[in-house]
Order: sequence, then C-alpha cells, then structure tokens
Amino acid sequence: MPNLANLTQCTGCTACSAVCPKQCIEMKKDAEGFLHPFVNSDQCIQCHLCEKVCPVLSDCSVNKVIPSACAVISKDESIRLDSSSGGFFSELSTKILEDNGYIYGAAYNELFEVHHICVDNVNDLSKLRGAKYSQSNLGDTFIDIKTKLDQNIKVLFSGTPCQVAGLKSYLRKEYDNLICVDFVCHGVPSPMAWKEYIKYRSELDNQGELPVSINLRSKDTGWSKYTYSNLFEYKNGKKQYNSSSDSLFMKLFVGDYINRLSCSDCKFKGYSRVSDFTIGDFWGIWDIDPVMDDNKGTSVVLVQSEKGKKLLDEIKNNLIIKEVTLEQASQQNPSMLVSSSAKPNRSEVLEMIRDGRISECEKMFVVKAPSFTQKIKGKLSRLMHKVRNHE
Ligand SMILES: Cc1cc2nc3c(=O)[nH]c(=O)nc-3n(C[C@H](O)[C@H](O)[C@H](O)COP(=O)(O)OP(=O)(O)OC[C@H]3O[C@@H](n4cnc5c(N)ncnc54)[C@H](O)[C@@H]3O)c2cc1C
Repeated sequence: MPNLANLTQCTGCTACSAVCPKQCIEMKKDAEGFLHPFVNSDQCIQCHLCEKVCPVLSDCSVNKVIPSACAVISKDESIRLDSSSGGFFSELSTKILEDNGYIYGAAYNELFEVHHICVDNVNDLSKLRGAKYSQSNLGDTFIDIKTKLDQNIKVLFSGTPCQVAGLKSYLRKEYDNLICVDFVCHGVPSPMAWKEYIKYRSELDNQGELPVSINLRSKDTGWSKYTYSNLFEYKNGKKQYNSSSDSLFMKLFVGDYINRLSCSDCKFKGYSRVSDFTIGDFWGIWDIDPVMDDNKGTSVVLVQSEKGKKLLDEIKNNLIIKEVTLEQASQQNPSMLVSSSAKPNRSEVLEMIRDGRISECEKMFVVKAPSFTQKIKGKLSRLMHKVRNHE
C-alpha cells in the first residue's frame, strides 16, 4: 500500500487521487467532514505516483523570485463592493477571460456546499467572488485543468496555498498558460460544521427555512478595521446581518476550533510561494496609507513570478496600486506567515457540532458578568488604592 500523508498532515488537495493511473484512490469524508484519500488496495499497482505528487511528502520548490508587495483597489466600485477585499481576483480573472481562458475557483451550490467550478464568462465570475469559509471540494478540477493546459488553453486556478501546491505538484511540469492565485489563509473550516451552522442560523432567523443567498463578506457595514459582516438573505426578503466579531461561525473559525488539522502546521505559508500571486485583505492599510482605505476594501497582493509581474502590468490601468514593503504587507496579517493553532478542545467541539449541538458552542464565548462579590472586591481595591495614594 502507498504511504500517503497521515491524517494530521494531509490537506485533502486531491493530487494523489487525480494522478492515480488506476483511479483507485477515492476522496472520502472523515467524521469531521474533511475529505481524505482512501486507496483501494485490490486495484493498486504499487506505482507510488501518489506519494511522489503529494505536496506534503515531497518538497515543493517555491519561486526563485523574491515577491514584491502592493496594496490594490479595483477602479470598478461594483466589483470591489461584491468582493472580499479590493477586487483584485476579479480584475485578474477578467483579463484571462478576455484572452479566451477559463477560471477555476470556489462557489456555493444550491445547498451552500463549497465546490470548485469552472467559469468561462464575466457574468459567472460573481459565483466565485467572496470568501467562503469552508474547505472547498475540488472534485476532478486538477484533471480538467490538465486537459485544458495540454490543449494550450489559458487557465487561472484560484485556491488555498495547499490546493495550489497540490495542483502544481500533480502537473509535474511548468505550463506558460497556467496562472495560479493563492491567498493569505487563516485555515479551512470543516464543511460539516459549516452545514450545521447554516441549519442553526436558519432556525434562529427563519424557522429553519434555508437562505437563498449567503455573503460572509458583506460590506454593507463597512470593511475597514474588520467591520465586515455575514449576511443571510431569505426568500421572504428578510436580511439577517451578523458582524464578523459576533457571528458564532466566525468565532469558531477564527478561534481555531473547527479548522482542518493540517492547518495547524501549514507548509505552504511564507512570503515566497509556488503561485503567481498571493492575495488577501490588506488589514492595517489604514495605518500605512489611509488614502488607500475608504472602508470599501483593499487587497494585499504579493507578486510571486515574472508571469505575475507581466500580468499585473497588463491590468494596471484598471487598478489603483500602491507599492509597500513585505513587512508592511504582513504586519497586521500574521496568517501570511504563521499557521493557526488548533484549540485543545477542537475535536470535542467538532463532535458536539456533529451531534447537532452547535448551539451549545455559544456558551464558550459568553463573557461572564462579574459577580456581586467580585464587584464589591473591585470597588474596595480601587478605594484602597486612592487611600494609599492620598488622592
Ligand atoms: C478559508 C479562507 C481563509 C482566509 N483567510 C484569510 C486571512 O487570514 N487573511 C487574509 O488577508 N485573507 C484571508 N482570506 C482571503 C480573503 O478573504 C479574500 O478571499 C482575498 O482577499 C481575495 O479577495 P478579492 O477581493 O481579491 O477577491 P474575492 O472575490 O473575494 O476572491 C474570492 C476568491 O477566493 C476563492 N475562494 C473563496 N472561498 C474559497 C475556499 N473556501 N476555498 C478556496 N478558494 C476560495 C474564490 O475561488 C475566488 O477566487 C481567506 C479566504 C478564505 C476562503
């Protein structure tokens, strides 16, 4: 049997299952809802290709170019407001579509499960816009992309740093017609937890009837200083906003209770990557250049390759760009460089959610009001302080 990455290291990138000449590696859900490869030993011919393309087991060589960094804003306000940060992804994708290329990125299906899909026109780009905080199911994306690349068609692939590393590793050669975009990634939450949260939210908001649209990065309440909100819209016209700091799902995600185990020791972070661009929210731009922060979203962009540099030059007239240092780009965005670390009770929390008890997670975030005795003690110590200092 091949020796694949273990359960804590595997990122679920699908490179092993895509490369298998016998198609005997199936991606199956574990108890936490994350996909892992399962090898059918009866059909395995021991070619070990799956081990060779695993980006965790092999050493993915990052680009030799030292990345440059900039703050970017799309000049198209409607695109920008529809995007998580400054709308850089859409501007780049529009250029690839103009060159008769295809865009692969993450979209919701009708049940709000997250899957990678292929888009071939500007109107459908909106399906990809906006961060979806659940690990995306890649399906046969890598195989489809290879087919297109071999036909000399331009392809832009956008995904997590581990997904981009998986694709590059699976392809095993450089393609001039492939553009890869990864992002600053805090980690990927469990699809099972995401599904349970949607059910829970819908019960609270709308007697269990599922929403018709979800936008986890709504800018109706702003963007600057992390003011964005989660917006659930229902068939009856009801709109329910939860600020990113109040939403239970965001607290579980950002608090590292529900992310994939491999995210706690991510091999794919750092300034230099295997992609052509690394994009993210330019958190902290308000301190570096307040002119670039009008509360509508600003992207941080690391240009990782010569191909990337050339492309940025081709689309620069559609963007407002301000060059920054790598330190400025990362100073308020530690996820660019450092892995999140799973909370000690992560598995219990995921178990509780799987058992249909997500509401009980709310208790973990209740800030207890001080008791009567604590209040009296506080008053007394302040009084003693005043007496001691002769105030
Ligand atoms: C799980 C996750 C964690 C993130 N963590 C951080 C962080 O810590 N710091 C930070 O600065 N930025 C983070 N981001 C990136 C950020 O939210 C924006 O996606 C990024 O700034 C791009 O913004 P944009 O305006 O250019 O384009 P947008 O239109 O927002 O770009 C969306 C792009 O992201 C891709 N995408 C969306 N959801 C997923 C998904 N689940 N899996 C794979 N690809 C997806 C889409 O395919 C599309 O290409 C994270 C995104 C995700 C999905």
